[in-house]
Amino acid sequence: MTQGRCLCGAVRYDVAGPFTVMLHCHCSMCRKHHGAAFATWVAAPLEGYRLLSGAASVATYESSPGHHRSFCRVCGSVVPERMPGSGLVVCPAGNLEGDLGITPQMHIFTASKAPWFAIEDELPQFAQYPPGFGGTPASRPAIDVTPGLTQGGCLCGGVAYEITGAPVRLYYCHCSRCRLGRSAAHAANVFYKADGFRWVRGATLVTDYAHTGAQFFGTSFCAKCGSAVPRVSTERNLVNVPAGSLDSDPAIAPTAHIFVESKAPWDVIGGGIPQFAEMPPRK
Ligand SMILES: [Zn+2]
Ligand SMILES: [Zn+2]
Ligand SMILES: [Zn+2]
Repeated sequence: MTQGRCLCGAVRYDVAGPFTVMLHCHCSMCRKHHGAAFATWVAAPLEGYRLLSGAASVATYESSPGHHRSFCRVCGSVVPERMPGSGLVVCPAGNLEGDLGITPQMHIFTASKAPWFAIEDELPQFAQYPPGFGGTPASRPAIDVTPGLTQGGCLCGGVAYEITGAPVRLYYCHCSRCRLGRSAAHAANVFYKADGFRWVRGATLVTDYAHTGAQFFGTSFCAKCGSAVPRVSTERNLVNVPAGSLDSDPAIAPTAHIFVESKAPWDVIGGGIPQFAEMPPRK
């Protein structure tokens, strides 16, 4: 039995499995909803899925007709989606504990991949759905961005922001909090100076969750769609932007993979980006 939970712990579930399909999705909706470079989904028979607690904390957003995305309204973690039509439950792998008995099999919707992210493994890649998957591709219309300005927003469009100034660093963080909070293999966090940041709209939709026992760690997300949005720390003059929420290309190379000693057992880190067991030494 595999256990799953949201970051705050309100929503808990277990999945009997076996897991049958596991894939990385680079579609623009997954990137927005998770705020990550891509989402990793794993499917299992629906009859083996049990929501143990937190039903009242689950909110659902219809991201395209008939397609729902659920999230914890306290912490913003993505919650598994029941798909009765196919007899499956589709789970965000970042919220599942331990070895899943399956590893990622493919990348899908690579035609929508983030420009700042490089796929560095040998798994098969499909521009949209693989042959035989069925399903109608849905994606968000591209948003016009203003040169010289860094812009982004949530999946429903309720929250939008813009930033002036250059990014400070881009970390791919594999810590368990980031994996739970982003419901992904790892977070992709771009940091900017907070004094160059402003909400263009939807500031009242932004929900902040401060993680119990953490000095700084928390998540911020859109109350309507659950998408990860920037988390502003005025006292540190820093804003942590979930890179998946960006409409602009931040034009920064990833600085490092961090907290790799906490990475998911199924996650394979490839490529030449520096890796640190925890935080890199500050320059
Ligand atoms: Zn939660
Ligand atoms: Zn997707
Ligand atoms: Zn939204």
